[in-house]
Amino acid sequence: MNVVMIPFNRIYLTGKELTYIQTSHEIGNLSGDGGFTHKACAWLETKTQTKKALITHSCTAALEMAAILADIQQGDEIIMPSYTFVSTANAFVLRGGVPVFVDIRPDTLNIDETLIEAAITNRTKAIVPVHYAGVGCEMDTIMAIAKKHNLMVVEDAAQGVMATYKGRALGSIGDMGAYSFHETKNIISGEGGAILVNREPLMLRAEIIREKGTNRSQFYRGQVDKYTWQDVGSSYLPGEDVAAFLLAQLEQAEEITQKRMDIWNTYHQALAQLEQKGMLRRPVIPVDCQHNAHMYYLLLESLEQRSELIKKFKKQNIHPTFHYIPLHSAPAGKKYARAHGDLSITDRVSDTLLRLPLWVGLESRQQEVIDVLMS
Ligand SMILES: *Cc1c(COP(=O)(O)O)cnc(C)c1O
Repeated sequence: MNVVMIPFNRIYLTGKELTYIQTSHEIGNLSGDGGFTHKACAWLETKTQTKKALITHSCTAALEMAAILADIQQGDEIIMPSYTFVSTANAFVLRGGVPVFVDIRPDTLNIDETLIEAAITNRTKAIVPVHYAGVGCEMDTIMAIAKKHNLMVVEDAAQGVMATYKGRALGSIGDMGAYSFHETKNIISGEGGAILVNREPLMLRAEIIREKGTNRSQFYRGQVDKYTWQDVGSSYLPGEDVAAFLLAQLEQAEEITQKRMDIWNTYHQALAQLEQKGMLRRPVIPVDCQHNAHMYYLLLESLEQRSELIKKFKKQNIHPTFHYIPLHSAPAGKKYARAHGDLSITDRVSDTLLRLPLWVGLESRQQEVIDVLMS
């Protein structure tokens, strides 16, 4: 057994975080929407080519804002995959919405766009594609369906920072998009996120919802002489110390993504022969998608095979993890949501997917992970 464990995730620090946080302390403004927040938002706007990016406490908070902006009312239906993190659904359930789950594609594990139209009813309000592993959903088709049926599209791009679909940043294609900077994602601030607001009419309201329902942002810009309660809202903006941390990470986003990509590619090449022998299936990246090496997963034959493999890894003190108890089979999913049609691919993937360790710094020990798979 290895003495030094190989964890599933390990945070990467650029070295600039503390310097920037110290500067934020020296400036003496620790509440939200100061200089670091503006720089982080501007960075995101430039990088994703969207007009309005607002950093938030988390991707969960960004999705909650999106649900308010989409005007979700009691009983409105939102089409999404069941194979996702709980926040994708919860944000809409908090508004009284009903998630309607459709199955995923067997190749990318993203929402199967060919199943969406049949799930639309006269209560349907929005579609929420989740870009699993930073690989884009089939957005052209999804946007066409949304247009035809007059639905909002909220991209859960929690895992999709620095990834593109047909050259466009994930999160910038739908009406809104949500990013996560949780410490398990590629670019981090501990807890953190951002909402991309891609439609002009939603932008002012997004600022208001994020600032406790007030027009404080306009007040700071000198556009109004006092700020007042304008709308529903909450406190969705992080403090400046978090924004300072985040800016340090964003400024190195290219390098971080490249380092992760090298590790991803090493796995992909090493495991090609096991795929050829039919022992596992590797991730599939469509030609239209530039992914961000958020995740390297394997698809195995059965739950038993996966459990055996996890045991083998644990013996070497290596800790891969599986993913998503499907929302439709979780207690709250049964209570607040419904499934549309057969979700057998979702169920199968949930039983057979294994995520390998992937973090900057793994390079020197990655062969140990590969060796377990080869043995
Ligand atoms: C991580 C994640 C979230 C939640 O992000 P937080 O920043 O932790 O709120 C939501 N959706 C998906 C698909 C995620 O992977």
